[in-house]
This record gives sequence, structure tokens and C-alpha cells, in this order.
Amino acid sequence: MQKDLIRLMRDPNLIPPEKQTLLSSIAGQAASMNMPCYLVGGFVRDILLGKPVNDLDIIVEGDAIQFGESLVKKYGGKLTPHTKFRTAIWHLPLTFAQSVQSASLDLITTRNETYLSPGALPTIKPSTIGDDLLRRDFTINAMAVRLDGEHFGELLDPLNGQADLEKKIIRILHPRSFMDDPTRIFRAIRYEQRYGFFLDPSTLHLINSECFAVLNTLSGQRIRHEIDLIFAEENSLKMLLRLSDLGVFNRFDPNMPKINEKYLALQNSIPPAEFPISVDRVLLGYLLWLFDSPVEIVNALSKRLDFTSDLSNATLAAAQLKNDLIPCKDFKPSAWTFHLEKIPLSVIYALWLITNEPALKEFIVKWRHVKAKSTGDDLKARGLPPGPRFGEILPQLRAAWLDGKVHSFEDELKLLETLIR
Ligand code: ATP
Repeated sequence: MQKDLIRLMRDPNLIPPEKQTLLSSIAGQAASMNMPCYLVGGFVRDILLGKPVNDLDIIVEGDAIQFGESLVKKYGGKLTPHTKFRTAIWHLPLTFAQSVQSASLDLITTRNETYLSPGALPTIKPSTIGDDLLRRDFTINAMAVRLDGEHFGELLDPLNGQADLEKKIIRILHPRSFMDDPTRIFRAIRYEQRYGFFLDPSTLHLINSECFAVLNTLSGQRIRHEIDLIFAEENSLKMLLRLSDLGVFNRFDPNMPKINEKYLALQNSIPPAEFPISVDRVLLGYLLWLFDSPVEIVNALSKRLDFTSDLSNATLAAAQLKNDLIPCKDFKPSAWTFHLEKIPLSVIYALWLITNEPALKEFIVKWRHVKAKSTGDDLKARGLPPGPRFGEILPQLRAAWLDGKVHSFEDELKLLETLIR
């Protein structure tokens, strides 16, 4: 097994060579300090699945701050220590940062966690790697691979995570797991649907009204974080449907919007080539999810899930714009443009995906770029003193372009003369 894991860890398709160099630098330093050092969680899971790895979760059986300080001394960069949890962020020196395309790395001290009450954040104490693996969510995430010295490539798998990976099973580590932290329900479904795995029957059985009651006590921010992670996934629709079937949303809040499969499937659509916009995938997910909901429900949900101000503004603007679409139908391009300009582009794009309203596409592709050629300086040069009239004349010139009333600079100048007079 060890040989196999070493082969996977040296595979440049799974870990790019630059990341491997970073890992051997870390491993070398840990070995010189006699400090056992591991990669844990998603790294081990994904590498055993033969998938390229992204996150490097480094933990040491010792003091991560002291370890971080020694890395800074040897390789450079900066350290932000968190003394309370004995963790540190290593802001990588430029050479590493550029080659691994990541600015920093978390260094964690192995620890155990105690939940003083269901759903509360855990109390943390430094401990052994064995304890650290026991605090984790699922067996497939409770494996570590050792990095330092001759131990390089040793797999620690006290809970048979590798066997569960092979059987495609998501299994919690103890019966109180979902009660301790009901956000694990979301995590379980995320892995289940991401990898096409199955929840172990006894794990599934424990997603019940008892842990739903605890879920209801969690802060909006914690739940929203889980929904954000789901919207970031390619299979977000399947995940939401599964959570909905399990009753998670309903129990959490009976006003939670229903999952509209047709709309949410649009999250994976690729913007047409003529759309020069990049839309945040997570934001788009929320917009499509909430499309059918009236403003009051969006407002209530925004409060319950503690939406960020950007998310709250965008979802409310979408709810409002949706209501405006029919009354705006016969608007001229200029009226559409002046109306749409106040709304985030991602909202307009989401609404276009659903409604196919041609004016929304025209706005994104063309209208928003149309500007009058004259400027405030031109008005001044014609003897008009700066003031409120500027704010009337320039939009009128722009509207004339948008509505096809002028087609050339000469036309615009003629109109300008008339407007000034
Ligand atoms: P992903 O590919 O989804 O990012 P990951 O395993 O890297 O997967 P993280 O959220 O980065 O996921 O968490 C890293 C590790 O921390 C997990 O693999 C798991 O061992 C542990 N972990 C994260 N969240 C929890 C939780 N709520 N309860 C217990 N362990 C957790």
C-alpha cells in the first residue's frame, strides 16, 4: 500500500511538480525537527481516488506555530500565528507562491475536539494524530498520509476509510456526529453526490428529526456557508434535490424555496461567446434558486441565512426585476438601459437565462456599451455652464443613440445644438 501511495504522490497529474517541491521542503523541515507531519482529509481521499488534489491540509504532531516559524526562517515568507488554537498561516515566499498558485498554507497542530452541547462550536485541545482523525466527519475524510523523513507515504487509516472509499460509502464516525455538528448533513450529501457514493444505512438513519432540531439552532452564516459550498459544485442540483428529499430544507424553514430543476439546471450553462461577462457560480446558483420566490420570502431568507450584502442586494434586485419584466416589455432600448444599469450584471444574466427576454441580452451585449460621443467638455465649449443641465443633455444624447434616432457624430451634434437651444 505504502508504495502505491508514494507512486500516487509522485504522479505529476495528481500533484503538479511545483507542489511536490513545496511538500518535500515542508517534509524535510519537519524531519529535521523530529516533528511528525501529515497531509489529511480531502488530500488523502482524492489522491486515493486518483483525482488531482487542490487543498494541502498540513498538520503536525507538535507546535504548528514553532514549525511555521522554522519554515519562515529557512524558506522565507511570513507567518500569521493563532496562539489560541496553535495554528498558523504561512504566507508563502514568492517563489513558492507563484509556482503553486496559492498565496498561503494553513499549518495545524493535531488536536481533539469536545462538543459541550449539540450544535455548539467545539472546544479544542492539542492532541495526537489518532485523536485528530477521530474528530473528523466521515471515514473517507479521516485518513492521513505522513510526510516527514523515512515515513514519507505512510497511510494512517484507523477507521477503514480506504475500504469505504472502495465500497463508495459515506459513513460518520460515531452515532452523535450529526447532533454534534449538523452541518455534516450537508457535507455528507455533497460527497455522496460529488462522487456518486452512498450513505451507509446507519448514517442515513441518523439524519432524523433529532438532528434537524439542532440544525435549526445553528447560525444562518453556518448554514449559508454549506449552501455556498454546494452551489460551487458541478452537481449542485442533485445535492439540493437530495437534501430536499431528506426534508432538510423544510425542517430548517418551511418557507425555504422549492427546488425548480429547470431553473437550477441552468447554473451549468456556458454563457454564449458574445457575452463578455464572468458570473460568479455561487451567486448564480442563489439567483436561480430564488427566482420563483416573492420579494418577502427572499427578504426573510436573506435574514435567516445571514446573506452577505452583495448576495442580499442581488437576490432582492432579481426578485424586483422579475416583477418589472412585463411592465417594461414595451420600453424603448434607452428606457431598458437606464433601468437595467442600476442592477448587477449577474442578476440580468440569470434572468435572461430563465426568461430569454431579448432586451436583457441586448443590454448585456450591446446597449450598456453605447455612449454619446460628446462629453461635459464639449458642452462647456459650447458655452453651457456645468450644472444639472449636463445631467439631462448627456443622457438624452445617449438615449438618441440607443433608440436609433442618431446614427453619426454629425447627427449627435445637430441634436446637441437643438437641446442646448
Ligand atoms: P473538499 O474537497 O470538499 O474541500 P475537504 O476534505 O478538503 O473536501 P474541507 O472542508 O477543506 O474539506 O475540510 C478538510 C477536512 O477537515 C475534511 O476532510 C474533514 O476531515 C475535516 N472537516 C471539515 N469539516 C468538518 C466538520 N464539520 N466536521 C468534522 N470534520 C470536518
